Amino acid sequence: MEKQVDYIIFGQGIAGTVLAYTLIQNGKKVHIVDDNSISACSRVAAGNFNPIVFKRLVKSWMADELIPFADHFYRECEQFLNQEFYWKKEIVKIFAEENERDFWLKKSSDESVSNYLNKNIDSEFFPDIIHNPLGATFVKGAANLFVSKYLADFRNYFIENGLLSAEKFDYQDVIPNASGVTYKNIQAKKLIFCEGYKIMDNPFFNWIPLKPAKGEVITVKIKDLPTDKIINKGVYMLPIGDDLFIVGTTYDWNNLNDDPTEKARNEIAEKLSKVLKVPFEIVDQQAGVRPSVNDRRPVIGLHPEYTSLGVFNGMGTKGVMLSPYFSEHFYLHLEKGNILDKEVNISRFQK
Ligand SMILES: Cc1cc2nc3c(=O)[nH]c(=O)nc-3n(C[C@H](O)[C@H](O)[C@H](O)COP(=O)(O)OP(=O)(O)OC[C@H]3O[C@@H](n4cnc5c(N)ncnc54)[C@H](O)[C@@H]3O)c2cc1C
Repeated sequence: MEKQVDYIIFGQGIAGTVLAYTLIQNGKKVHIVDDNSISACSRVAAGNFNPIVFKRLVKSWMADELIPFADHFYRECEQFLNQEFYWKKEIVKIFAEENERDFWLKKSSDESVSNYLNKNIDSEFFPDIIHNPLGATFVKGAANLFVSKYLADFRNYFIENGLLSAEKFDYQDVIPNASGVTYKNIQAKKLIFCEGYKIMDNPFFNWIPLKPAKGEVITVKIKDLPTDKIINKGVYMLPIGDDLFIVGTTYDWNNLNDDPTEKARNEIAEKLSKVLKVPFEIVDQQAGVRPSVNDRRPVIGLHPEYTSLGVFNGMGTKGVMLSPYFSEHFYLHLEKGNILDKEVNISRFQK
């Protein structure tokens, strides 16, 4: 064998990147294999994380644990690479109906979520640009990761340090053996699959009941909107500089590919035109397929038979917020024998 490592990681989306960094920080040797033209999911992700589920105004699952962990994690990544890609950003909620505003005001005094819901209503939030007759307020504690930059910066680091093979992987070359696993000329203790929804093609793990959802976003040019806040009214508008905003998103459980569609473009543009009083220009459109499962929890753990093979997947709509905390959780399981939380443990799908 030409190379010996502790872990081979298949896939350099958000899941594979975050896991690789976690392992490296804990002194493990890793090698990553990824052809990033196969799935665009992480690269098209807006990178928002929101501690609140807007419809019910309840806390997003484990928000109190996930958010501080992710804050610390991404800031540490910035220092490690000497780059910038992570910002705390308020999410401005524009009310569409009176009962929505009344519900917000009621919930903002509810102890379970009050630390995330601002109490004051702003009736003057960009009234010349946004339809805002019922006022606006904001979610505290939200943040944004510039995911495509995060992935590109880490890719450069991995390549410069000889830690990444930029190629399509072939499952036939994965050979579990007595001392771990080999992949081509690499021997490792374990190989962790992080290939997003493409795990459906994985002969070792295709029994995981994935329910992938295609999503699309458009990039639009809008003048004179704030550049430090994410605005939400049915669609989100994420500022990315130069008067450009990423606007999304859609859900399609049938057409699982990365091809942008006219239907999604029209759907998002129609929603956006109900928010804005001013015209906007669509300059780009992107699509990706989210690796979701029915119970909306990550899927983490080792193969029941080939214990040198594992998965770190199922990040669904929240890869940015979930990956840091659960990569540490997985590391502690792999290296220290800690028990995996049963809500995320792959064993929940074993018959
Ligand atoms: C439109 C849209 C908006 C989103 N917005 C957000 C958001 O705001 N916040 C958030 O937290 N999440 C968001 N998400 C969800 C987020 O993108 C996912 O949770 C996350 O990207 C999943 O990452 P992953 O690493 O598991 O999979 P992927 O990103 O799919 O990564 C898998 C990697 O493996 C590679 N690969 C697969 N098969 C092979 C092979 N055979 N050989 C070589 N390489 C291979 C792929 O090319 C890819 O690089 C959004 C998703 C979409 C579609």
